[in-house]
Amino acid sequence: MATKQTLFERVALIGLGLIGSSLSHIMRREAISAHIAGYARTARTRDKAVELGLVDSIHASAAEAVAGADLVILCVPVGVCGAVAAEIAAHLKPGAILTDAGSVKAAVVRDVGPHVPANVQFIPGHPIAGTEHSGPESGFAELFTNRWCILTPPAHADPEAVKKLTSFWQACGANVDIMDADHHDKVLAITSHLPHLIAYNIVATAADVESVTESEVIKYSAAGFRDFTRLAASDPTMWRDVFLNNKEAVLEMLGRFSEDLSALQRAIRWSDGQMLFDLFARSRQVRRSIIEAGQDTAKTDFGREH
Ligand code: NAP
Repeated sequence: MATKQTLFERVALIGLGLIGSSLSHIMRREAISAHIAGYARTARTRDKAVELGLVDSIHASAAEAVAGADLVILCVPVGVCGAVAAEIAAHLKPGAILTDAGSVKAAVVRDVGPHVPANVQFIPGHPIAGTEHSGPESGFAELFTNRWCILTPPAHADPEAVKKLTSFWQACGANVDIMDADHHDKVLAITSHLPHLIAYNIVATAADVESVTESEVIKYSAAGFRDFTRLAASDPTMWRDVFLNNKEAVLEMLGRFSEDLSALQRAIRWSDGQMLFDLFARSRQVRRSIIEAGQDTAKTDFGREH
């Protein structure tokens, strides 16, 4: 973790949900910014943000919130990033860095990029850290600790701005990787988007199985179902936007997944125990590697206490 230092005089958080509020907590703890300006769409979130001390100034307009900010972070659903960028473009400070936290990158580049003035550095980002909770109360300072944050700077990005944004995420506790936006979307399609889709689907299937009652599904959920429900409890707006904006990569991974699932179906039908055993053994090794890489603990609740 970097030593405490003011990296940006004024940071504007556009959106004060899980990601925006977590950024506020860690920026406060590490004294990363002298002033945090916040924008949220609803009065309820704005009032909560003030009550929780997340911001030094609160604004009902995103354009107002970004005025004079050295760093602007879009923490809103992927599907609204373009509209927000159009609204704030003329109000961005010359020399400012504009970034985002969106779970999809190529679509954000496509939607935000055209609005960004030439004197502003747009460096898209995605912290690979989250929980199933949302809203201003859900944030906590440790969300990004030892997690990865992927930056996808365009080829013409100023290396100094990339360096500064890298320092920002490191000060927030994260490790930073740089990659191309399309590659990011493929990697996340398999590591995040597909698992969420499967979780949403299995919960929907369980709800529709007529021979098992809903109370039985809940009562015996510790048998495995419970772990899917955590993923499937994630914010519906955020996830709708993820799938609508990462269609190609998700459909590609879903195709591969369906083929592999059919192979498993076949193995069960033909009692191919060896095939099942080999596949399960390989999967177990992946889980061990994730624990060894410090991306989870061996605790049965996925190590999440929040
Ligand atoms: P969240 O807790 O649901 O908060 C979303 C924020 O965006 C709220 O302040 C909300 O305002 C605002 N908002 C929603 N719709 C809007 C609209 N149409 N116009 C303007 N503002 C709007 O979401 P989050 O989890 O912080 O996610 C924020 C971003 O980070 C998303 O792009 C997501 O893909 C990405 N991300 C999420 C996770 C995760 O696990 N949650 C992880 C990494 C990245 P109100 O509260 O006033 O409605």
